[in-house]
Amino acid sequence: MSKIILTGDRPTGRLHVGHYVGSLKRRVELQNSGEYDDIFIMIADAQALTDNADNPEKVRQNIIEVALDYLACGLDPEKSTLLIQSQIPELCELSFYYMNLVTVSRLQRNPTVKSEIQMRNFEASIPVGFFTYPISQAADITAFKATTVPVGEDQLPMLEQTKEIVRKFNSVYGDTLVEPEILLPKNQACLRLPGTDGKAKMSKSLNNCIYLSDSADEVKKKVMSMFTDPNHLKVSDPGRVEGNPVFTYLDAFCQEHHFEEFLPEYANLDELKAHYTRGGLGDVKVKRFLNEVIQQELEPIRTRRKEFAKDIPAIYDILRKGSEKAEEVAARTLAEVKASMKINYF
Ligand code: ATP
Ligand code: MG
Repeated sequence: MSKIILTGDRPTGRLHVGHYVGSLKRRVELQNSGEYDDIFIMIADAQALTDNADNPEKVRQNIIEVALDYLACGLDPEKSTLLIQSQIPELCELSFYYMNLVTVSRLQRNPTVKSEIQMRNFEASIPVGFFTYPISQAADITAFKATTVPVGEDQLPMLEQTKEIVRKFNSVYGDTLVEPEILLPKNQACLRLPGTDGKAKMSKSLNNCIYLSDSADEVKKKVMSMFTDPNHLKVSDPGRVEGNPVFTYLDAFCQEHHFEEFLPEYANLDELKAHYTRGGLGDVKVKRFLNEVIQQELEPIRTRRKEFAKDIPAIYDILRKGSEKAEEVAARTLAEVKASMKINYF
């Protein structure tokens, strides 16, 4: 059986380091491993419109920002198909048929959608499109017969929903769709990177992000003003490492060679954590180190991004070609789906 990847992002803002450690970095590794027959990377503009209906210009403009972030991180259009969701109308048709296989109460139980509804103050007025986006995500995944979906932990309920739809479809209409597997980050800290404010998730919608495209100064400012342990007031105070986003970021980003380079008095992160826990290590010193580590990771990305940004028509060209290829694949799946459902009358 072929190995196929589908993953993507909503163009609701530039991509941040949470996306990077949660999904983007892994995608580039998988792309370069050569183990996959096809890789589809989707800019989910139609999904972004489900909670941005009154702000289509924001979604439109961010398509190019997300594409620039992709290319800057090393996604290569020669190896991966970059596509814009709204340009594949077959996805809407698939969603429409899948809607009959899911109950309202099943959608209401989806914990990610629940917390997103709360976050957006949608309680009394949830757009139907937003409420049903897990179904459209199932269409995205199955249209490309994806076997592997590398995403962050918040996407677990979406993958469960997709698997249920696949099983239901196949049992009612006969074997047609492929059940995908989620591929979570190996590093615990990357499953759901917290925000610079210490909130559970770094998210474009929460204004607590370090963006891949932030300037070196902006990154430094954000790191130096990060939330830490609120009870760690004096350098001599013992500090808490758990729930302290500065240490979670170090868990996600730093490696032993960073100590040799920037903080040679410690051999590794365990030693640094032990000192912080004991007391006698100030936040400023730890933040300065984190800043060096993050700058080293982001600098080449920032430089490549500036290069790509010089030729925007070339980026649209990449997206057009990718979308055309993706539509051919989705059209084949839709034809199979309709044949299985016996709604191919003519
Ligand atoms: P929005 O607030 O518009 O939903 P978002 O920041 O949650 O934006 P998405 O486009 O919904 O970003 O997510 C894209 C991908 O990035 C998904 O695979 C998701 O799991 C992953 N991701 C997003 N935020 C994080 C994070 N803080 N930590 C790890 N992975 C993340
Ligand atoms: Mg999201």
